[in-house]
Amino acid sequence: METIVMKFGGTSVATPEKIIGVAKRAIKEKEQGKRVVIVVSAMGKTTDTLLGLAAEISAEPPKREMDMLLATGEQVTISLLAMAFKQLGHEAVSFTGWQAGIETESVPRNARIEQIHTDRLEAVLNSGFFAVVAGFQGVDRIGNITTLGRGGSDTTAVALAAALKAEKCDIYTDVDGVYTSDPRFVNGARKLEQISYDEMLELANLGAGVLHPRAVEFAKNNNVPLTVRASYSDEPGTIIQEVVTVEKNLIVRGVAFEPGIARVTVTYNKPFNGSLANIFMTLAENHIDVDIIVQSISEEFQPSVSFSIKEDSLEEVRRVLDDNKEAIGFKSTEFEVGLAKVSIVGSGMVSNPGVAARMFDILRMSEIPVKMVSTSEIKISVVVPGGDMEKSANALHEAYGLG
Ligand code: ASP
Ligand code: MG
Repeated sequence: METIVMKFGGTSVATPEKIIGVAKRAIKEKEQGKRVVIVVSAMGKTTDTLLGLAAEISAEPPKREMDMLLATGEQVTISLLAMAFKQLGHEAVSFTGWQAGIETESVPRNARIEQIHTDRLEAVLNSGFFAVVAGFQGVDRIGNITTLGRGGSDTTAVALAAALKAEKCDIYTDVDGVYTSDPRFVNGARKLEQISYDEMLELANLGAGVLHPRAVEFAKNNNVPLTVRASYSDEPGTIIQEVVTVEKNLIVRGVAFEPGIARVTVTYNKPFNGSLANIFMTLAENHIDVDIIVQSISEEFQPSVSFSIKEDSLEEVRRVLDDNKEAIGFKSTEFEVGLAKVSIVGSGMVSNPGVAARMFDILRMSEIPVKMVSTSEIKISVVVPGGDMEKSANALHEAYGLG
């Protein structure tokens, strides 16, 4: 018998009525002769509420206890959903992450799944029961509860699909699929029928909140066919898979954007005989995520390196740089806030030269200054003034024929 994994996010299980709706939807799938695993998030904004409670006790609560706290959210949903199945005349067993055999590394708040011991799940599924599993949580080797990072229930679902060799993993959410861009800000953004794992991974990493990046990574590595679809309709949604049929020869498949970016410029004395490793090792040791890096060394000017960070880590970066000025050996720093990152993503770029040139041209015509650039095989990102973010995204979306 084929197995399917269905995952429902917070808004899709926000009320008891919605939970009953989820059960009904899963029953329909089971009636097609499938073994069905349902992974759920915490109800509505529960995780945020729990974070708020902790913040009232401490500005820096112990991470282990945060995991303990946050894991309770999903536990409420699994029990209620299992009750709903029973009420509708079906058998179901709920599982916390650790009961489902999800073993993770010992990294509180952001653990990766290492392995899944599926025996108990298999036994329950083979008895013809629904298996209801709490997303976003697991247990480390020494028995601490861990969580997988915000949005991590997607990753639970995909990991279970891989471990159970499921035929597919459907992510049910409050939007009906993956869009060419965020329709709340970009005119004419539309739903994609399909997208490749690589493109989706870039978009997820670039802030398209629809899927947890690690879920996409997991799906790619294990070849799990993944679908994002609406929990409120029967529309087919967006399929994420390895190979995608080329739609209208589109070079760009999506435009992503993210506000709240800052640029840090560090200037060295001339001549610069240090190493970039000094500064970036120091930042890494302090767990600061650096995104785009641009180095400038010329005969005429003082050598410098600029990098982009999330604005909310600015104070920390400032402090870390100040504390390590001697060791890093720089002369001065400069900070620019209020920036945004806008990116275009598409597998078609690999075989089409001039995509970057065209992008800069489009931005120039809209009089948008480009402050930093970074590229990968299938992505080009630019940092622009925050006030120009929407304008840039709309201009690019339109010029690449995505509307
Ligand atoms: N409840 C967790 C969160 O809000 C995990 C998830 O929903 O995927 O981030
Ligand atoms: Mg989510």
